[in-house]
Parts: sequence; C-alpha cells; structure tokens
Amino acid sequence: MAMAMAMRRAAALGARHILGASSSSSSGILRSRHMSVDAAAALERIRAAGLLRTQGLIGGKWIDAYDGKTIEVENPATGEILANVSCMGSRETSDAIASAHTTFYSWSKLTASERSKALRKWYDLIISNKEELALLMTLEQGKPIKEALGEVNYGASFIEYFAEEAKRIYGDIIPPTLSDRRLLVLKQPVGVVGAITPWNFPLAMITRKVGPALACGCTVVVKPSEFTPLTALAAADLALQAGIPAGALNVVMGNAPEIGDALLQSTQVRKITFTGSTAVGKKLMAGSADTVKKVSLELGGNAPCIVFDDADIDVAIKGSLAAKFRNSGQTCVCANRILVQEGIYEKFASAFIKAVQSLQVGNGLEESTSQGPLINEAAVQKVEKFIKDATSKGAHIMLGGKRHSLGMTFYEPTVVGNVSNDMLLFREEAFGPVAPLVPFKTEEDAIHMANDTNAGSLSDPVYLNYYFFLFSLVCQAL
Ligand code: NAP
Repeated sequence: MAMAMAMRRAAALGARHILGASSSSSSGILRSRHMSVDAAAALERIRAAGLLRTQGLIGGKWIDAYDGKTIEVENPATGEILANVSCMGSRETSDAIASAHTTFYSWSKLTASERSKALRKWYDLIISNKEELALLMTLEQGKPIKEALGEVNYGASFIEYFAEEAKRIYGDIIPPTLSDRRLLVLKQPVGVVGAITPWNFPLAMITRKVGPALACGCTVVVKPSEFTPLTALAAADLALQAGIPAGALNVVMGNAPEIGDALLQSTQVRKITFTGSTAVGKKLMAGSADTVKKVSLELGGNAPCIVFDDADIDVAIKGSLAAKFRNSGQTCVCANRILVQEGIYEKFASAFIKAVQSLQVGNGLEESTSQGPLINEAAVQKVEKFIKDATSKGAHIMLGGKRHSLGMTFYEPTVVGNVSNDMLLFREEAFGPVAPLVPFKTEEDAIHMANDTNAGSLSDPVYLNYYFFLFSLVCQAL
C-alpha cells in the first residue's frame, strides 16, 4: 500500500511510474478501477478506430521495449492510467535510426509528386479521424476537447502545407563571377532527422517537424514526450495507413536522456529538431557539436502583451484572455506578462478579472470546459513557487491564486496585480493559468519592459515565430 502510494506520488511529481516486464498487460492497456465513464467510452472509441497504439514503431513494426519495460500514461484530469506504453532506450533508438537510414535511400529517390501524394493521404486520414485524435489528446494531455479539435486541424494543416511544398523545392542559378563557370544550388535532403517534441501540443509539434522532413525526402525518428505518446503513436499509425513506407517514420519513447544521447551520438542522424524547454535545448545543441549536426530549436518564451491607454477595452480583454489562457497557460506563446498603461490599469484589471471568472475549469472531455488541469504536480508546484515569490515581493492576488477545489492538478485561473521585474512571474515562464498585470507609464517603459528578457532576440527566428503565433492568436480572438 505504502509502495503504491509512493509510486503514485512519483508519478504525480512528473516522474512516471516505470513498470518491469512482468507488470505490463499483454494489450498494453490498463484500466483503473476508477475509470470515469466518459473516459472509458472515449478510450473504447479510440480503440475501435484502431488508434490506441502502445508500442514503439521501428521499421514499420510495432515493437515492445527490448527489456519489456513499460511506462504509464496518465489522464491528468483524473489520475486514471490510460495505457502502458513501451519504455524504450538507446538500443531501440539505434535500431530506429538504422531503419530510417536504410529507408532514406528509397524514400529520397521518390519523385516529389509521389511523396506529396502520401503526405496528402496522411492529411486526409488525420482529418477523417479528427474526433478520435482529439479525444486521445484530451485524455492524455488534459486540454479542453474544443482546443484538441482545433489542434488536430492545426496539426493536420502542416502535413497539407508540406504535401504541396514538396513539389516546390526549387534550386537557384546564381550569376558567377567568372565567365566560364556556372553556379547552381541544388537542394538535397540531409538524411535522417531526430525529432524531439513536448507534451503541450501532442500532435502539432510532431506534424510540424515530420511534414517538412518527409516532404523533402528525409526520414525521421520521433521521440514524443513520455506524458503524451499516445497521440504520436496514433498519428504514426495513420502515416503507415497512408502509404508512408516502413522506416520513413519511426517512433521511440521512454528514457529521454538515453534516446537523446543515441540520436546525438549517431553519425547517421544529420539533423536534430526540438521543441521544448531551453534547458534541454541547450543540451541538444551542445551534444550535436561532436557529429556536426544541423539543429533547429524552438524553446521557451516570455511573451509580453501590451495594453495602452487608448486600447478598445473589449478587444484588449478578448485578446489578452486568448493569449494567456489557451491550454491553461501551457503554451510557449502564452502571454507571460500583461503590461497595462497606468491610465487604463484599474478599468482593464476589473474587466479582465470578470472575464477570467467566466472561464470554466474542469475535465476537458466536458463540452463546457475552457480550462483543463496542468500536466502534472511539478507544474502546479512551479506555479505555487512563482505566486509565493510574487506576493513576498509586493504583488497582490486579484483573483484565484490557489489550487482548484476539483483537486488533482487543477489550478484556479489567477490574476496577479502590481507585478514587477524582480519577480519570477516577470522573468520566467510560469506555464500555468496565471496572468501577471504589470503597470507602466510610457510607451518607452513598455518597450523596455517587454524586451527585459533573455528569451529571444530581434534576429532570432524563434522570436519572429512568437510574433507570428501571437498575431494569429490575436486574429482568432478578433
Ligand atoms: P522539455 O522538458 O524540454 O521536454 C521536451 C522534450 O524533450 C520531451 O520529449 C522530453 O522527454 C525530451 N527530453 C527531456 N530531456 C531530454 C534529454 N536529456 N535528451 C533528449 N530529450 C529530452 O519541455 P516540456 O516541459 O515538454 O515542454 C514545455 C517547454 O516547451 C516550454 O518551455 C515551452 O515554452 C516549450 N515549447 C516551445 C514551443 C515553441 O514553439 N517554441 C512550443 C511548445 C513548447 P520526456 O517528456 O519524455 O521527458
């Protein structure tokens, strides 16, 4: 009993419970005795669609971890164990790389049109299984079902886009400086790509990496987050059904440092693409140096949202709400600081609090829910630490500021007033449903505060990416 509780606690803190070979069920699917009816029905629907995969995908085959170990995937809204997935490491990753490397020779030789057709079919299958994928995402990640459906469209759009772009990978002819020379730029796929993705967009972060890689003829080894592997595996199943050949897309999950090291050390992996925390991104960048891999990183953020005295208050409230509370504040483009000019501060704060009060916290499977749980106990503890730090330095809680009465990892949508630049809430990503309001006097002050961060720089594509996403969020909000 004590041991079970200790395991539960470890899982709640973000360290998932890894089971030995003998503990895993043959199907890989476990049912908690307390499985809620809705979750059970949703799982059944996903299983009936053939999309409840629990093994890794290597060379087109669904494979258990070689030592039989599994890892629990939990529903953060209820603590229910949804499934036991293979807990893989370096050996499985090496085999996945070998399979991707072999397939690279055939996949890269196809015409762009042939690759495009397979990608388009994958897109069609994702869309026709939209509801099952969204349910799976809500179950393992916790985001409200409406947001999950939105993510399926968004995630699928990358595949659709790159299915088209596959046919437009043009080269260049450059005027030479010597009359007897010709300068031609021919674009070639780099080879095997290692793609490491986070839990907050379980589908879109995968399709955004795999779509362009496959389109130009690369093959891929994907490592999804241990918190949300089920969506990744379901998407990979649909890729196989679409005719993307065995070995072109491989999925391994489990021991992240081991898998990461295997990808970094392999000379066959020519590129690493990663979305996740800055700390892990730095490790991957350093680890890529030995084999001189290309690296693309999308890391953490500290996005400001600025409201001036002359803002249309309704538009500002709507935009700020959307920018802050999407996925309960757990996105890299969430407004981490809301800077509000002094003349409108009080009016904005009271209208904003009213709007935040209307957010419905609950299980994402319920239609009315707009705020799901945080991903795990560690995420809640991080928010608590930030709130404690802010209040000890003079900020005041205007709304929320504590765990939600629903328990688990639910946290009350929170508004904190008088936040200043010496507080963690200002300096670091809270990654939770906490809106810090920061008063400012002049436009110069606001720009200075907005740029008072080490996240991004004007020449950094990640920074531009934020603008793009914020822009699209604002457009959605309007
Ligand atoms: P994370 O802890 O960095 O994890 C991201 C991925 O890296 C997961 O698959 C994780 O595996 C894996 N990983 C962890 N340690 C590793 C290692 N030593 N070697 C190789 N892989 C390793 O980040 P997260 O908590 O999942 O995601 C939240 C962060 O992502 C936030 O900072 C957010 O801003 C950022 N993000 C950025 C964007 C963007 O577009 N810029 C988009 C989404 C998220 P396990 O989960 O299995 O441990």
